[in-house]
Amino acid sequence: MVLELIKNVTLLITLCWLHGMLMRGLEARPLLGKLAAGALFGAVCIGGMLMPMVLEDGLIFDGRTVVLSMAAFFGGPLVGLVAGAMAGAYRGWLGGVGVVPGLLNVLMPVLLGLLFAYLHQRRRVPFNVFSLLVFALLLQVVQVLNLLLLPAEHFATFIQHALLPLVAVLVPSTLLLGLLLRDTERQRQAREALRQSEAQLRAITEAVPDLSLVLDEDGRYLKVKSPDSRLLYAGEQGLLGRRLHDVLPLSQADLFMQFITRTLASDDAQSLEYGMQTALGHRTFEARARRLDTLIEGKRAVVLMARDITERVALELDKRIASIAFESQQGMLITDAKTRILKVNRAFTQITGYSAEDVVGQPTRMLGSGRQGPEFYQELWQTLAREGVWQGEIWNRRKNGEVFPEWLAISAVRDEQGRVTNYVASLTDISERKSAEQQIQHLAFYDPLTGLPNRRLLRDRLQQAMIQCDRKGQYAALIFLDLDDFKNVNDLYGHQVGDELLCQVAERLRNNLRELDTVARLGGDEFVILLEGLEPFAEEAGAQVEHIGSGLLLALREPYEVYGQRFHNSASLGVVLFNDELQTVDELMQRADLSMYSSKAAGKNALSFYDPQMQAAVSMRLKLEEDIRRGLDAGEFVAFLQPQANWQGVWSGAEALVRWQHPERGLLGPGAFIEIAERSGLIEQLDLATLRQGCQLLARWAVRAQMSHLSLAVNISARLLYKEDFVELIQQILQDTQANPRHLKLEITETLLLTDKDKAVQRMQALRAMGIRFSIDDFGTGYSSMAYLQQLPLDQLKIDQSFVRDLPENPGSLAIVRAILAMAVGLGLEVIAEGVETPEQQACLRDNGCQHFQGYLFGKPLAVEAFEAAVLPAVDLL
Ligand code: C2E
Ligand code: MG
Ligand code: MG
Repeated sequence: MVLELIKNVTLLITLCWLHGMLMRGLEARPLLGKLAAGALFGAVCIGGMLMPMVLEDGLIFDGRTVVLSMAAFFGGPLVGLVAGAMAGAYRGWLGGVGVVPGLLNVLMPVLLGLLFAYLHQRRRVPFNVFSLLVFALLLQVVQVLNLLLLPAEHFATFIQHALLPLVAVLVPSTLLLGLLLRDTERQRQAREALRQSEAQLRAITEAVPDLSLVLDEDGRYLKVKSPDSRLLYAGEQGLLGRRLHDVLPLSQADLFMQFITRTLASDDAQSLEYGMQTALGHRTFEARARRLDTLIEGKRAVVLMARDITERVALELDKRIASIAFESQQGMLITDAKTRILKVNRAFTQITGYSAEDVVGQPTRMLGSGRQGPEFYQELWQTLAREGVWQGEIWNRRKNGEVFPEWLAISAVRDEQGRVTNYVASLTDISERKSAEQQIQHLAFYDPLTGLPNRRLLRDRLQQAMIQCDRKGQYAALIFLDLDDFKNVNDLYGHQVGDELLCQVAERLRNNLRELDTVARLGGDEFVILLEGLEPFAEEAGAQVEHIGSGLLLALREPYEVYGQRFHNSASLGVVLFNDELQTVDELMQRADLSMYSSKAAGKNALSFYDPQMQAAVSMRLKLEEDIRRGLDAGEFVAFLQPQANWQGVWSGAEALVRWQHPERGLLGPGAFIEIAERSGLIEQLDLATLRQGCQLLARWAVRAQMSHLSLAVNISARLLYKEDFVELIQQILQDTQANPRHLKLEITETLLLTDKDKAVQRMQALRAMGIRFSIDDFGTGYSSMAYLQQLPLDQLKIDQSFVRDLPENPGSLAIVRAILAMAVGLGLEVIAEGVETPEQQACLRDNGCQHFQGYLFGKPLAVEAFEAAVLPAVDLL
């Protein structure tokens, strides 16, 4: 009976072991594998139950507990379930007295196997011979306990005949099957691990961009794998099985053989850098090789990985070249995209004085000198952004604070997306070159002795001046100047003294001229002066030059002090005026030179104009100016009075009109001198003198009954209104004369009031506050707008005589007169008409609303006595 059981169990174990072998085929499909395993274990159990140890009819013993428990332990719930279901179904179908314990003996081993597996996985129970033994015993104890469900007599039979063989066979069988299955399981796990590591290895070799080769000790290609077959000397397939010497040139094959030998001899990986001709051209590789631990086909072998480092090598070379170039003679500077300095070279340090530590990390701004404005930098960055490069001259500051010029070239470095990543700048210190340039420029354009411009520069400026005055409509003057008797100084005292004297002359000329004028030295004692921006009218320009020229003559006439010696050297000047480009530079120079000789001929220390008419006109003006000055001092200017009448023709006052009682030329009207007085600035003095006379008259009239009502109009040049102290001057006169300001009227010509009126208005207001009234003379001849007039503090408009003259016939004049009258009403101003000569004119004006008149109809300008005589009855005069 025991033998039967042993046979049964042996069969089961053999089948189980076979099953393990079969299951290998299903390892790739786990679910199917489990179902198949479960079915196989179930079938094994059924096989066991077909040839059991039969104790009685319906009471059979076999190895199912062993198989099912181990199936559940190794296979898990699914395998246990399938196997248990099959075994249980078969046992149920067999039936008999032992069917219930028989079924329990299907269920319990599965559960116990699963419990054992669970505890083992949780590391609560180890899996070894001892634990397996305890499990096997436990399994049999449970089986025996199950058998308690048998009727007592059957159980007793079991105890008597089957218990011992059952325990004796099934416990070691469980042990044996467990160990067998563990071995199978371990093999499976090992296979799985191998499969995984192979898969990983494959993935790794495919992922690395390197060439991988396996070569044996004879240099035979055993395995070839390349990311790009063009990197191989010959195609991948063409290499396998061939030897290095069959494929590569001899020298190359030798090199590799040496490398293989070296690698085989070493326990560590070996490396080699080599170049090779490939389908992609000549490439550089870096190889690393390691000896294989096993023999392949009886030969030692190495694994070799080779990486294409052509780009890296080229890059390194570039870098090396760049770093050599970077340390060149030029200062170099590299910044990031935000112009923060990353690197500078030695030349940079030499030029700027800043070491790398000083500047790295700093913005390039720190080098700026502040000489260039923001527009300069804006332009620079715009060019850089647009063209990628900028170069030009720039002023930077050295570490010691010195500002210096440098030639700077900046290039923007962009990445593949076109974004700027860096700026590279090279700078050259050009301060020396610049100062040399300046020196050359100075030598070329300036006289080395006096530092004045030379002939070349003068000609240049003269050319410019001609263009300028043509454009601006102004005059300019070219003055030739020659020192009188300079030759004597040179001959008697030597060149050194002569040179020093010339320097002093140059100095005096410079000091007596404006910044914009040019003083040049042509050589010897010849100087040339270019005056620009003169008056637009020839005569005035001439007078201006005359003024400046006499100033120069005066300054040059002063004695010179040279090395303790005193020298008296006057100069002769020759002037040519021009206001266009009609003459050439040479012509102008010749003319000025020529007129300079006229000065010499006229006895030196003189100024001559090239144009004899100009000479005459200028001399006359100057003489007249001088004469006016003298006349003013001598009190030759007197006020004549022209009556002003009201609408009834009754005299209400007078206008003071200046006359010059000239000792030689007789009585002169304003036309002979006002304009020159105005231009020379003498008008101020003249007007104030007339004003004083007028105020004296007012004061005198104030005490005479028939005259106290009379007002007096005095003409003043608008120049006076622009005089800083005009108000104080008038106050002074009023105070001195004690005249009543309410009877004083100041006449200003409309055309003269157009510039800078704000200050003038302020002064007018101040005077009006004192009671003085203002009248606009010659009204209608200027261009005053209503708005302009409104801003002036006025009392009266004086219609110009040119409109009155043609009344009443000329409709144009009549229209203007009417308009002026209407406007005056609107502005609340009084209107007086001047130049009224006929009763028709007066009637016409009166009909149109004019109430005040002045003109020959009422009286001509009269000497004061004549005027007063006409006003006062004869009795009063006495
Ligand atoms: P004005 O102020 O418009 O003076 C009127 C001018 O017209 C005077 O000429 C006067 O003699 C002349 N006149 C007056 N009634 C008649 C007339 O019915 N028919 C004609 N044909 N002419 C008449 P005058 O005296 O030669 O003065 C000329 C200008 O000189 C004045 O024009 C005034 O602008 C200026 N003037 C006169 N005295 C002074 C003065 O003391 N200072 C200033 N700055 N200018 C003065
Ligand atoms: Mg007047
Ligand atoms: Mg007038």
